[in-house]
Amino acid sequence: MSSTNVYHVASTQLQRAAEIANIDESVKLILSQPKNEIIVNFPVLMDDGSYQLFKGYRVQHSNILGIFKGGIRFHHEVNLDEVKALASWMTYKSALLQIPFGGAKGGIKMDPTKYSQKELERITRRFTHALGSNIGPEYDVPAPDVGTNSTIMNWMMDTYANTSPHDRKNSVKGVVTGKSIASGGSLGREKATGQGLVFAVSAWAQENNVDLSKCTFSVQGFGNVGSNTARLLQERGAKLVAVIDHTGGICAPNGIDALDLIAYTKTNKGGVAGYSKAESISKLDFFKTKVDIVVPAALEMQITAETAPLMNCRLIAEGANGPTDLEGEQILIDKGVEFLPDILANAGGVTVSYFEWLQNRLSESWTEEFVDEKLYKQMNQAYATMRKIAKQYNLKNNRDAAYIHALNRIQAVYRERGIFP
Ligand code: NAD
Repeated sequence: MSSTNVYHVASTQLQRAAEIANIDESVKLILSQPKNEIIVNFPVLMDDGSYQLFKGYRVQHSNILGIFKGGIRFHHEVNLDEVKALASWMTYKSALLQIPFGGAKGGIKMDPTKYSQKELERITRRFTHALGSNIGPEYDVPAPDVGTNSTIMNWMMDTYANTSPHDRKNSVKGVVTGKSIASGGSLGREKATGQGLVFAVSAWAQENNVDLSKCTFSVQGFGNVGSNTARLLQERGAKLVAVIDHTGGICAPNGIDALDLIAYTKTNKGGVAGYSKAESISKLDFFKTKVDIVVPAALEMQITAETAPLMNCRLIAEGANGPTDLEGEQILIDKGVEFLPDILANAGGVTVSYFEWLQNRLSESWTEEFVDEKLYKQMNQAYATMRKIAKQYNLKNNRDAAYIHALNRIQAVYRERGIFP
């Protein structure tokens, strides 16, 4: 299997860390495959009166540390191996952040930009109905990911609530997180992944005596994670010099104003291409751009044997899940580049999802300051734990250290509880 098969990459990461930490064979075996792989095919009525059949996935990797938890992706490249890898990363992320959740992921293989709002609503509702009792506020809780947002989450919650018994309709809001505020979402959730990433980068800067206000950075992907990261890193004085998304790349050595670019993308169907205050660049030129920090915040397997040798940076802060393949990672580690791995760097999303789920359970609404403060503490604690393990085992790769903490937590539970029957 190629090293850029995303599930192979996730499996290798698990085996590598498990070997370093001497994790029990039984634990490795259990985690090597997800608990459940659910595939549903469902028909949806299109605006023109025709029917289209969609394939939807929900993979539940582990619930040993808590209920299944993970995003829903709408993208034309969604496939079982990808969803399996993404589900497993959720398990390790929740374990690392000490959140009482397990790992899951889902998605529909389709390009959401090709459908009207009404069609998207029918697709989402029909998918939610097809998943049925495979999701639930005390069982498996989806959230937004690539191609989905708070509107999709509101439709999922509403469909689930309307197919629940009358006396439970109001107590099932926590069936999904990442909802809009009016529908039971949490303040601070929309920006949470970018915010968490900036907290992690700040912790790294502090440990390494780096002045963020003197740093330059580039961002791949300018959606929820990329744009919020860019604006929040800019708030700390760092300078954004290059951005690339599915529409094209842009570069400005004197700096791109993240807020102005966000406003531009809103008028340009979400894309950065054509932004007049920067030069347009190719994908290879994007990777060649010298910066202090690179933030991949698009899709998997972008930093590879082809792109890694071009890169000239100090830190890669993985906003995306699985943006780096095995060869790309090794090339950069050998060059002395540091990683803030995805299971740490983008964990702000699931952490604030946990806060949203808690608020739904308690019928409370927390302030944004309170949410940010709790997120800050949780990200700093996870960063400190990861670094402690990296030093203890003399590891150059923070990813191994982050995995080791997650695996030790999971192993402790299996050792105590055993395996039924
Ligand atoms: P999004 O749909 O809001 O944005 C995705 C971005 O990626 C868009 O800017 C798109 O143009 C860009 N993109 C797509 N294909 C590309 C390509 N081939 N080259 C360059 N850019 C490309 O999605 P998001 O929620 O920001 O998620 C981005 C990444 O972050 C994903 O890996 C996701 O799993 C991860 N993530 C998201 C969250 C969250 O809370 N949304 C949490 C944790 C991790």
